[in-house]
Amino acid sequence: MRVSNIKIIEDNVSSVSCSGDSKTGAHPQIFLKVNDEDGSVECYYCGKKFIRKSKFKKK
Ligand SMILES: [Zn+2]
Repeated sequence: MRVSNIKIIEDNVSSVSCSGDSKTGAHPQIFLKVNDEDGSVECYYCGKKFIRKSKFKKK
């Protein structure tokens, strides 16, 4: 897992879209639902992890 590939999102965000980036390579755009329990979701294409602001600070 690429732990360095993390994107912080706002706390009120319930879903994110990902289509890759220049580092990991592009992939078809997908939409991911943020897990309410841990406030994060990981893209299964490129491994990018989206974490809600408040959850990220607590770690
Ligand atoms: Zn992705």
